[in-house]
Amino acid sequence: MNDPLLSRHSRDSHAAALAAATSEVGRYLDDRATPRSAATPDELAHRTSAVDLDRPLGDLTSALEEVRAIYLDHAVGYHHPRYLAHLNCPVAIPALAAETLTASVNTAVETWDQGTSACLIEQRLIEWVADLIGFDSPTGTAPDGVFTTGGSASNLQALFTAREDRLGRAGDRCSRLPRLRIVTGEHAHLSVVKAARLLGLAPDAVIALPGDGDRMDPVTLERTLASLAESGTEVAAVVAVAGTTDHGAIDPLRAIGEVCSRHDVWLHVDAAYGGGLLVSPTHRSQLDGIGAADSVTVDFHKTFFLPVAASALLLRDGAGFRHSAVHADYLNPADDPGHAGGATAVKPTGGGPAVDKSLQTTRRFDALKLWMTLRVLGADGIGRLLDASIDSALRIANCIEQDPELELVRRPQLSTVLFRPHPRVDVPPEPCSRDAAGSGPCPTGAALSDRLVRPVRDALFAEGHSLVAATVVDGRPCLKLTVLDPNLTDVDVGLVLADVRAAAGRLAAGLRSTTTEVFT
Ligand SMILES: *Cc1c(COP(=O)(O)O)cnc(C)c1O
Repeated sequence: MNDPLLSRHSRDSHAAALAAATSEVGRYLDDRATPRSAATPDELAHRTSAVDLDRPLGDLTSALEEVRAIYLDHAVGYHHPRYLAHLNCPVAIPALAAETLTASVNTAVETWDQGTSACLIEQRLIEWVADLIGFDSPTGTAPDGVFTTGGSASNLQALFTAREDRLGRAGDRCSRLPRLRIVTGEHAHLSVVKAARLLGLAPDAVIALPGDGDRMDPVTLERTLASLAESGTEVAAVVAVAGTTDHGAIDPLRAIGEVCSRHDVWLHVDAAYGGGLLVSPTHRSQLDGIGAADSVTVDFHKTFFLPVAASALLLRDGAGFRHSAVHADYLNPADDPGHAGGATAVKPTGGGPAVDKSLQTTRRFDALKLWMTLRVLGADGIGRLLDASIDSALRIANCIEQDPELELVRRPQLSTVLFRPHPRVDVPPEPCSRDAAGSGPCPTGAALSDRLVRPVRDALFAEGHSLVAATVVDGRPCLKLTVLDPNLTDVDVGLVLADVRAAAGRLAAGLRSTTTEVFT
C-alpha cells in the first residue's frame, strides 16, 4: 500500500479497502449455508498458528484472503436462522454504516476538545434512555449515564458506584469494606461475582437468594435484608435482573424496589438482556417498576440489535459519577468544568465530559450506532424486532410442547426456550442395574434425557447445521435456544428441532448398544 494511513490523499485506498471488505462480507453471507463450518477447533488452531506473523503479505487483497480462510469461512453466523445458541443478535444495517464512520473518523469520546459532537450525541442518547427508564423521583441531580463496552462493564461500574455510595456514609471505610454484601437472585450474571472480587469485597460477599422459580422472591429478599440489618451487616446493593442471561426471567422489579427503598439499599437493575423491552410496543410492561432502580445496565448489543460493543450504565442520581472522576492537568483539569480550555468551559449539557464518567479514557464512539439505528428505524421499529423474537420463542415453545420427543422445561418469559430431548427408545424389560445387589434404580426417561443434553449440544456444534446451547435448570441439564431473530420461520424452527431429535435418537441408540451404563 502506498500510504497506509487515512487522509485526504488516501481516499481511494480507503474506499477500495472498504469495498473489498464489504464484498468479503457479501461472500460470507452468500456462502453461509450453516451457522458454522464443521471445522474442529484443532483444525482452526492449526491454521491460525501456521500464519507467519514475521512475514507480512504486503497487500490488502492477500490479507483478506488469508482472513477468509482462518476466520470468515468459519465464523459462527449469528444472523443465520439456525443459530439459536447464545445472546448474539443479527445486526442492524444502519449501525454498520455508523461503525464505518466512527472507525474511519476515529473520534475518541473523552473530552469536549477531542469530540464535542460525539459527546453531545452520546449525552442526548443517555437522556433518551433515562427517559425511557423513567427514574422515580430523581434525588439530588438529574439522571445521567455513560456508554460502556458491555453489561459486565456496566455492572462493575454500577456496583462500584453503589459501594462508594455506601462506604461514603458515616464510619470507617477500611473496616467496613470486607463486611459489605451484595444480594442477588440465584440467576444473576457472573459479572456480579467478578465485580465483587474486583471491588475488594470478601470472597463470600455475594449472597445469592433462592428464587421463586426463576425469579427473585421479594419476601425472601425482605427477610434477608432484615436479618442482615439486624446483624449489623451492610448491603452495598441488591441486584435484580430484567432478563436473566440463562432463562430470560424478569425479576418482579416493583416489589423489589419497594423492599430496597424500605431498607434504604441501592437497587441495581441488570437489564443487559431485557433492556430492549424499553422500546417494545407490546411488552414494555414487563419492566414495570424499573424506575425505582438507583442504577440500570442496558446492553444495546443484545436486544437493540447493534453490533458489539454497545452498552450503557444509567444512574438515577447522576452525581454518583463523581466517584469515577479523576482529574489530570492535560485532560480534564478540576478547575475547568468544561475541560476544554476556554473554548467550551461552559458545559453545554448534562454532566461533565465523558472521561469524568467513564472507567475508560480513550473510548469508541459506540453511541453513533444507536443514534443511526434509532433515526432510521425509530424506537418502535427497534422494539418490533424484539417483539417478533419473543413471538418466535413462544411459537417454538408451542412446537416443543406438542412434540412427544421433546419436553418443554419453561414457558419463555423473554426470548429463551428451555427444553430437553426425550427420545423414544425401547427400555429394557429386565431390571437393569449392574449393581450386584440389584438395588440400583431402573432407567427412567428423565435420566436418559439428562444424559443426552450435553452430547446433543456437542454433536450439533460439531456438525454446524443448527447451534443450540446447554445449561442446567433446577439441577437438571437442559437445552436452550436464545431467539434474537425477528425473521425466524417455522421451517427453520422445524429444521433445528429435527436436528435435535435426530441427534438425540442417534446418541440414545448408541448409548444402548455400547453400554448399559446409561440405565444405571
Ligand atoms: C449478557 C449479560 C451481561 C453481560 O453483558 P456483556 O455485554 O456480555 O458484558 C450481564 N448481565 C446480563 C443479565 C446479561 O444477559
